[in-house]
Amino acid sequence: MDVRTFWLAGRAATGDSELTVTNPHDGRAIGRHSVPTDAQVEEAIAAAHAVAREAAALPVHVRAEALAHVSRRLAERADEIAHLITAENGKPIFWARGEVNRAVATFRFAAEEARRWSGDVQRLDTEPAAAGRLAYVSRVPYGPVLAITPFNFPLNLVAHKVAPAIAVGAPVIVKPAPATPLSSLLLGEILAETDLPAGMFSVLPIENERASALVQDPRLPVVSFTGSAPVGYAIADQVPRKHVTLELGGNAAAVVLSDADLDWAAQRIALFSNYQAGQSCIAVQRVIVEQPVYDAFVERLLPAVSGLVTGDPADEKTQVGPLVSEAAAERVEQWVQEAVAAGARVLAGGTREGATIAPTVLADVPHDAKVACEEVFGPVMILQPAASIDEAYAMVNDSKYGLQAGVFTRSLDAAFRANRELEVGGVIIGDVPSYRADQMPYGGVKDSGIGREGLHSAMEDLTYEKVMVLTGL
Ligand code: NAD
Repeated sequence: MDVRTFWLAGRAATGDSELTVTNPHDGRAIGRHSVPTDAQVEEAIAAAHAVAREAAALPVHVRAEALAHVSRRLAERADEIAHLITAENGKPIFWARGEVNRAVATFRFAAEEARRWSGDVQRLDTEPAAAGRLAYVSRVPYGPVLAITPFNFPLNLVAHKVAPAIAVGAPVIVKPAPATPLSSLLLGEILAETDLPAGMFSVLPIENERASALVQDPRLPVVSFTGSAPVGYAIADQVPRKHVTLELGGNAAAVVLSDADLDWAAQRIALFSNYQAGQSCIAVQRVIVEQPVYDAFVERLLPAVSGLVTGDPADEKTQVGPLVSEAAAERVEQWVQEAVAAGARVLAGGTREGATIAPTVLADVPHDAKVACEEVFGPVMILQPAASIDEAYAMVNDSKYGLQAGVFTRSLDAAFRANRELEVGGVIIGDVPSYRADQMPYGGVKDSGIGREGLHSAMEDLTYEKVMVLTGL
């Protein structure tokens, strides 16, 4: 089996050990990669630090062309990359193709944003004391970025950190998730084809236990983390003086109000509770339905759930594949069993075969069950009737998380009210909370994190405003 190199300051490199990556569907080894040594990690940090000034001064057309090149090459190699994502992550090929298409767009948006990225001029003579003065406001990268990424979108969530970093002129070191490093190593291969200066990017597939060398190094002033809340906050606590962005988990709610299109709501909720086997930070977990339409909604939901095609992720027709590991599926199964022991009813699914959990619908779930109040990260939804809009929105907010919420309604009033009252980073009207366009601001409140991604927002997040005052005008 070929051993993939990693990327050290823009060049292919090998260390003195290797790791094997397996397919969650059948446990087969699908690839091996070389692992950087401690000295190579140090070399990558030193190179990022050394190139930071040159990177920030890189002409915009060079950054934009590099980003456009990556977008084009991802599109050209889309089929190969989608199969790689499916093999290492277990995500059905249909969704893997979708992820590659999104990454193509993410790099294209970054190329476009890089060209629009420019300073601002403010007249200061609005006050007599500032007569004759003008402010030029530009945004400057804090410096090299450490990007720590999760397993569930092994390409596009790496793209969401690498693309804005290049767009603003910041070197970036990627530490991918150990279960799914191959997609980011392939992205490194494409980045190496560009004219970016050496040191501008590294992809270091190291073990978690060694990541603190990167997290704590003062030469990497920005830590951009996407992953679970406990790991994210533990990292932030280690480096209180760094600029830390945390894109964390959730237990997203979809609200179905009495005026909703119930067929559409049932189809979308069935699909987006189970897409990627529920392993998305905005997968539908809590379904809150206004009482008058509760029975009619459930009548539509259950056939939509049982109609989902579960199976081999490499099959083009499969909609729901395995979780990332059998251990992850065992944990989800146990949470379902705990809820059932506490009085929940299973309306669909609830069973496990290897790493695959059947799409599961639960009702009468106690408020303190883990499937209600934690992030399940599996294909499990819980149904909760609400007596009124007031109660429905209060139930959405009754969570430690606050990433996105979806509200199925045709009422503009209910929509604006949701926007005012729901404690989340994004409110999706007329669709599931799982909707994300890659160019829009994206991120959470409460335990779902700090900071925003989405190309323009991420570029702001990686930079600070610097003002130059011109005098005597
Ligand atoms: P995780 O927290 O286990 O790991 C995330 C990353 O952190 C991985 O690269 C992992 O190797 C690394 N890591 C783990 N321990 C570390 C340590 N001590 N020091 C440095 N790095 C360390 O998360 P996961 O299981 O890979 O991904 C699932 C989680 O990610 C879920 O909670 C999901 O909601 C969240 N997520 C959030 C978003 C978002 O944009 N808000 C998107 C996708 C996933």
